[in-house]
Amino acid sequence: MSVERYQVVIVGAGLVGSAAALALGRQGLRVALIERQPPPMPDDAWDSRIYAISPASQRFLERTGAWQRLDADRIQPVFRMDVGGDVSGALRLDAYEAGVSHLATILESSRLQAALWQAIEADGNVALRCPASIAALERDGRITRITLDDGSLLEAELVVGADGAASRIREWAGQGSTLTPYGQSGVVANFTCGIPHRGTAFQWFSGSDILAWLPLAGHAAPRGLQPAADRSFSSGGNLISMVWSTQSAHADELVALDPAALAEKVQAAGHNRLGALHPLTPAAAFPLRLIRVASVVAPGIALIGDAAHGVHPLAGQGVNLGFGDAEALADMLARHRHTHCGDVGVLKRYARQRAEPVRRMQALTHGLHHLFADNRAAWLRNAGMTLVDHLPPLKAALVREAVS
Ligand SMILES: Cc1cc2nc3c(=O)[nH]c(=O)nc-3n(C[C@H](O)[C@H](O)[C@H](O)COP(=O)(O)OP(=O)(O)OC[C@H]3O[C@@H](n4cnc5c(N)ncnc54)[C@H](O)[C@@H]3O)c2cc1C
Repeated sequence: MSVERYQVVIVGAGLVGSAAALALGRQGLRVALIERQPPPMPDDAWDSRIYAISPASQRFLERTGAWQRLDADRIQPVFRMDVGGDVSGALRLDAYEAGVSHLATILESSRLQAALWQAIEADGNVALRCPASIAALERDGRITRITLDDGSLLEAELVVGADGAASRIREWAGQGSTLTPYGQSGVVANFTCGIPHRGTAFQWFSGSDILAWLPLAGHAAPRGLQPAADRSFSSGGNLISMVWSTQSAHADELVALDPAALAEKVQAAGHNRLGALHPLTPAAAFPLRLIRVASVVAPGIALIGDAAHGVHPLAGQGVNLGFGDAEALADMLARHRHTHCGDVGVLKRYARQRAEPVRRMQALTHGLHHLFADNRAAWLRNAGMTLVDHLPPLKAALVREAVS
């Protein structure tokens, strides 16, 4: 039987695995990408899975050629972020005041996924195997043999696990991980709003609940109503995406609500900031958990994306951390292009480079979650927010940290 030989085989062609494959393929490495199921192709309907892409991730995606394939009418820059406490605290982060063009870009998961796959096809540097499942994995000296369920055999110097939170590659490599459920779920849904958002994202902390409204590009008439007469909003339109992190039992209640009743609840929880909300997409809920992985590398193995870490979505940074992994791994392999790709010395450098940003984000989101979940700390967090709001240099530093 013929054997296909690659320097890098990536398992999982979600957003992170696809971006890593593109970046590595563009560096001239022989790369295969294995995915068990094709992603749904986007249509005109709105995806309720929305991401806030940081400017650093945007620059990386531009370099891979995927960003340029996105429909400009479906991406929305965030210019301001209003953060509210449960009693009185308030904090506004403003791109203009901090001297940056935007804080993040909001886009749909399915459209970014499609752009990445189109770029892979257009580049022609990556052997995409989909749908394909792994029947067996075997380490033999400095290579790994991967047998697919159709019987084909691949050999790799390096296997990259980009196969998500329940990573099979992580398990096969024996990399220990701890999963801490938050007992919460993230409820997501999109709405039309009565007042244009003008590129502002909102976030409210209330007890252990965190409600975020992210501005979407474009304009739509609320379901069942005539198209709005005024389409002349200068910055952004009247569509928003919500992520409501809440106790799982409450999340189940929210998802079970009639869409109009959910819209009313979300409108009230957001203090009517954008007028009347009307449902645009059905609600869905995802369990929230912290995943810590003892080591993200081993000889011939590297983990990236959710396979390597899981964070609370309150900072909207999960996929951005994953793109940071993909970029760092591709850069590290490029810097050592004459070395075997599975060399554990090189892989450890990748792991060291990523340890600090991942640890910082896990500590920040975990710490904020507990600060807001503890009622005794209410005065402290509200006072803290108001204090930061009155300290422009600190605010500018916060914005620079968010966009880097
Ligand atoms: C409610 C919620 C809101 C979020 N909001 C944000 C946000 O605003 N911003 C943000 O940055 N992040 C956000 N995140 C986090 C984000 O969704 C994840 O970090 C991101 O999707 C991880 O991408 P990934 O490619 O690593 O993994 P995945 O998206 O899980 O992709 C893994 C891929 O591997 C494939 N696969 C798995 N096993 C195998 C196998 N054995 N063989 C072949 N293929 C396999 C799967 O089919 C899949 O395509 C949010 C998460 C939640 C729960």
